[in-house]
Amino acid sequence: MIEKNLLEILKLKYDKSIKVASNEEIYFSLVELAKSKIKEKEISKTGKKLYYISAEFLIGRLLKNNLINLDIYKETREVLDRYNIDFSEIEEIEIEPSLGNGGLGRLAACFLDSIATLGLNGDGIGLNYHLGLFKQVFENNKQKAVKNPWINNSGWLNESNIGFEVNFRDFKVNSKLYNMDIIGFKNSSNNLHLFDIDTIDEKIVGNDIDFNKKDIRKNLTLFLYPDDRDKEGQLLRIYQQYFMVSNAAQYILLENEKNGLSLEDLDKNIVIQINDTHPSMIIPELIRLLIEKGIDKDKAIDIVSKTCAYTNHTILSEALEKWPISYIEEVAPQLIPIIKELDSRINSKFKDESVSIIDRNNMIHMANLDIHYGFNVNGVAALHTEILKNEELNSFYNIYKNKFNNKTNGITFRRWLLSCNENLSSYIEELIGGDFIKDYKKLSRLYDYKDNKEVLKKIGEIKKSNKINFKNYLLNTQNIIIDENSIFDIQIKRFHEYKRQQMNLLYLIYKYLEIKKGNKPDTTITTIFGGKAAPAYIIAQDVIHAILCLTEVINNDTEANKFLKVVMIENYNVTSASKVIPACDVSEQISLASKEASGTGNMKFMLNGAVTLGTEDGANVEIMDLVGKDNIYIFGEKSSDVISHYKNRDYNSRNYYYKGLIKPLVDFIVSDEMIKLGDSTSLYRLFNELINKDWFMTLLDLEDYIKVKEQVFKDYEDREAWNRKALINISKAGFFSSDRTIEEYNKEIWKL
Ligand SMILES: *Cc1c(COP(=O)(O)O)cnc(C)c1O
Repeated sequence: MIEKNLLEILKLKYDKSIKVASNEEIYFSLVELAKSKIKEKEISKTGKKLYYISAEFLIGRLLKNNLINLDIYKETREVLDRYNIDFSEIEEIEIEPSLGNGGLGRLAACFLDSIATLGLNGDGIGLNYHLGLFKQVFENNKQKAVKNPWINNSGWLNESNIGFEVNFRDFKVNSKLYNMDIIGFKNSSNNLHLFDIDTIDEKIVGNDIDFNKKDIRKNLTLFLYPDDRDKEGQLLRIYQQYFMVSNAAQYILLENEKNGLSLEDLDKNIVIQINDTHPSMIIPELIRLLIEKGIDKDKAIDIVSKTCAYTNHTILSEALEKWPISYIEEVAPQLIPIIKELDSRINSKFKDESVSIIDRNNMIHMANLDIHYGFNVNGVAALHTEILKNEELNSFYNIYKNKFNNKTNGITFRRWLLSCNENLSSYIEELIGGDFIKDYKKLSRLYDYKDNKEVLKKIGEIKKSNKINFKNYLLNTQNIIIDENSIFDIQIKRFHEYKRQQMNLLYLIYKYLEIKKGNKPDTTITTIFGGKAAPAYIIAQDVIHAILCLTEVINNDTEANKFLKVVMIENYNVTSASKVIPACDVSEQISLASKEASGTGNMKFMLNGAVTLGTEDGANVEIMDLVGKDNIYIFGEKSSDVISHYKNRDYNSRNYYYKGLIKPLVDFIVSDEMIKLGDSTSLYRLFNELINKDWFMTLLDLEDYIKVKEQVFKDYEDREAWNRKALINISKAGFFSSDRTIEEYNKEIWKL
């Protein structure tokens, strides 16, 4: 059937037979084939509906996943194999849409997969950024940001005839809605709604990512997170946010009306999940629209407050959004009277200034708006939610105990096992059957094999073959050779000081100097980094620069490069994550305790049989509880101690710098070897940051990190015991299925 369909489409679209069709023609034909299958399965869902609003949806390439979820992947491969067409080459045609930045956006994508897989009535709403987040290239050992156009290449976007008028203070724009099908695994599909305007001009951006930030009609949906160091950049972000929520609100009300439902019952018919604070203006916007439609103010506020729920993703105070009133007034003045009204109601009820929406500096605190005027607040891992309740949002928790609850993040097994690690997932299926794909609890059956030598051996062999696959990928994409017999130690995630890539860097310096002293590791170590740093985040760029310089120092050292190799994946994204995660032995999750809300990378690695080396932070704590202390490596100070260092202001990095073995490691950053290869301003800036400030306490945990990491490498020598740890990790990963997470959201918040 698939063969017949594909040949027909190729004939109709390109007038070609499959034997002479190009990879690109086959790709677009497969997209069309998939879309026709989606149509066949289309059902209209009824009942209460969820709208998941998010500035980011880091969906990744879609072809393979969509075929898997449509349950036609195997057949499609067989057809292509018969014609000697390599599916992985077809896949390469698709440019990954960079509609997200990191974990938060990837979470939204996993959630959409699970919502559709569970057959729930729920769509995503976001923006159709033409150039997405920037693409990272390395030049002179530095990150350079270039644009990443993807739309013309996609094929997955469906243009609709829906659009709305969005009024800004000085002008108005007409939006246009594009939809993407979100296919449930062996189930019907939902939609991701992406709003855009057709006056966007990609040509105003040169090869770097600079553009005129004032020309809103041309730039509104160009980039995700445009540089907001200046006022123009901040205003542009507000334009984007208001554009997103105004469209969302109008779309939601339109659907409600089409379904013949009364506005008075809005909260019974729909629920809106606000993913972090970027969509928070949906609250005043929806209230405004309800009032415009004749509902009285008190009632409108009441309805909206029962409709919206908020997910908090961070406790970093610098990441909690607040905007000057005057900026919002400049963009969408129609919201100001509503926001002021909402604020004054709070101020007359509560004396505590810290719970105000508008502070004494006339800044609007978006999270505060969500907490007061939403019916639910959730954190994203058990520890994170406890910190919100007891520390960061304690004054809100004291007012609204019942609003707060935890929903530990999850990942979809379809992408992060079936699609990225076919070897492992089919072996698991051989052992315990395929139910675990949709029924995450069944994965625990794998635990029964933990002492089966043959199974453990096979787990090791699968890992080895995944390492070879990644080796080939890296050779093809970056022309770098790594050794598949070495241990793969991996830290991939956004570059941020709290994630402490710089601590890993200091470990590598330690290891390098040890090797120079003659203390060679039993097994060669390959440490792999990947991740982008925000263009405005200078120190994070400096860490990337230092890592790239160190990479070169070690590479050039014929004595050391046999034992230690450091590589950095260029332009880390969902595609490269899918290639490298299955190849991982050691998963680095080394954030400063209390700072990583959950992490989801940690879960992907666990599911793919890597062992975690991490701090007691985010979901690492829950991983530890599940696998037991013998199957995870935990180091560093606990979150409660870290929080008290901040309270007492008693951490001084210099005290650690001069202590024990640390000084030579930090000093190496500005050694002759490094300076020769790098930019001394950047290297000195990092060096000075570490000894004078070190806000995220790198040096605090460094010694313990080195000690425990040495133990990891020692334990790796007993390969059977190591494979047992890997198997136990996989078998306990069921809890981290996003199906579990979504079941909890639905049971306790959405009630669809
Ligand atoms: C999962 C994922 C992340 C999140 O990783 P963390 O380690 O949890 O920060 C970021 N980027 C991509 C591409 C991902 O797939």
